[in-house]
Amino acid sequence: MNIPVRVLPPIKNPVEALDRDRKQYYSTRILRSIVNSLDPDALRTVGITDVDLFIPILTYVFGEAQLDGTAAIVSGARLRQEYYGLKPDRRLYAERLFKEVMHELGHTFGLTHCDLEHCVMHLSNTVAGVDKKRADFCTNHWDEVGKKLKELERAYGT
Ligand SMILES: [Zn+2]
Ligand SMILES: [Zn+2]
Repeated sequence: MNIPVRVLPPIKNPVEALDRDRKQYYSTRILRSIVNSLDPDALRTVGITDVDLFIPILTYVFGEAQLDGTAAIVSGARLRQEYYGLKPDRRLYAERLFKEVMHELGHTFGLTHCDLEHCVMHLSNTVAGVDKKRADFCTNHWDEVGKKLKELERAYGT
């Protein structure tokens, strides 16, 4: 199954998502604005932002997704070496971003966190953790994604 990918025009970070005291954006609110502007043709939509994201119970999050839903958001802010006072590394940044997008997409396919350290669905709340895992699902999680894609294939007839 080949799934076409489209890059949509950028949207503004919703002002209501900004927490002025924390100087961060509430990811659930950005996610909501993505959900409100979803293209009905899209199976999944992932927003990528450069602003730092949080949810009230956590200092920060790399991203957030609707579990078994259609939308997700990922922040590149803390995936950049510069954030930690290090030399920029575009390749490493792209790799981290790819993993986090894959992780959040996994959640939209109903996947929960994985105990296996190499699986991209392993929970990582530091970049070191992101670097440790592979940009790939474990066998079990590939099976789950495969099942979901087959269901979608039946539903959409692609
Ligand atoms: Zn997760
Ligand atoms: Zn896994």
